Amino acid sequence: MPKQLPDSAIRPEVANLPDYNAGVALDRFRDTYGIECVAKLDSNESPLGPSPNAIKAMQDAALGVARYPDAANQALRALIAKQNKTVPENVIIGNGSEDLIGAIFRAVIRPDDHVVTICPSFGLHEFGALTFGATVTKVVFKDDWSFPVAGLCEALDAETRILIFSSPSNPVGPAIKEQEFRDILAHANPDTLICLDEAYVEFIDAANKFDALAILAEARQPWIALRTFSKAYGLAGARVGYGIASDPAFIKALMKTRNPFGVNALAGSAAIVALADQTHLSKVLNLAKTERARIAAALEAMGFVCAPSQTNFVFFNTGVTATKVAEALRLKGILIKAWLEPPFLNWARVTSGTPQENDIFLAALSTIKSELDI
Ligand SMILES: *Cc1c(COP(=O)(O)O)cnc(C)c1O
Repeated sequence: MPKQLPDSAIRPEVANLPDYNAGVALDRFRDTYGIECVAKLDSNESPLGPSPNAIKAMQDAALGVARYPDAANQALRALIAKQNKTVPENVIIGNGSEDLIGAIFRAVIRPDDHVVTICPSFGLHEFGALTFGATVTKVVFKDDWSFPVAGLCEALDAETRILIFSSPSNPVGPAIKEQEFRDILAHANPDTLICLDEAYVEFIDAANKFDALAILAEARQPWIALRTFSKAYGLAGARVGYGIASDPAFIKALMKTRNPFGVNALAGSAAIVALADQTHLSKVLNLAKTERARIAAALEAMGFVCAPSQTNFVFFNTGVTATKVAEALRLKGILIKAWLEPPFLNWARVTSGTPQENDIFLAALSTIKSELDI
């Protein structure tokens, strides 16, 4: 008999973490439900996939996989720096931006530190902090789904190590307004690290867009903005994301706490080419903007309440425990994400897929609505 790891070996901070609420992979769905998935709308992936040039770049890079990739990711960092009017020393690439979220917490958090975030939110913003024994204050969105600026200002104190939240928000959808962002920065302690997760920044309408990096550049605090190739660029499976930070010393520290070769050769090549294909990106953004509005209008016509969206998904109140609706949809081959964070257990997030996938989802939901008597 192999000796089992005693429970006491696992740090209590880790043992007490909830499981990550990840989407379901297609082959696992098939094995579990015995049917094909007809609309995979649970992970905010791009229905148009990546630029065809990025696929070609990965095929080409595959020929060179005997060699380690450039651990410093120079070519990609230079390109991102240029696009964002900064220097490569202020840019870091990660194995997805999730990898960078982990690297940030590993670099700065000590036991009993204080972290502030928004609720509902992306699970990893909280998990990373809890893993290292930090206390997390979660400030709930306002009833009209505007960012809880007053609540955040109240939660932030002189000891707060990190303020971390996503804008546009995952799972809710709205983007923070410029003045709201300025108000938070004006209030936060100069030593608090501002971590702005911009995973959906590409999807913001022109009317709501402002240059958060320019505002951060003037801020009194150290900061990092996180972005990803997983959503608008359609490269979720390749795993590549990036951070732009206030100073090279911070990036240097993060280079030590991330996995040195975490960005594999295929992902690195794909990202460079994907960034250059703005035509493909425009198609993705136009589709998401049209479809998110159409999905929300259809849901509202059925009587469901929706949060406003500046992303490629819609967050809506299912009227009952959302896992019930999600499970009924699964039996019809449709995946959405039921939210598991109280007090939002009646809410679910549906990704905007192709028009056909969205139609399949809407028709199935309408049937389920009568079946479950919602
Ligand atoms: C999808 C997402 C990410 C990260 O994605 P990676 O695939 O790890 O780059 C990070 N933050 C938020 C808010 C997201 O929704």
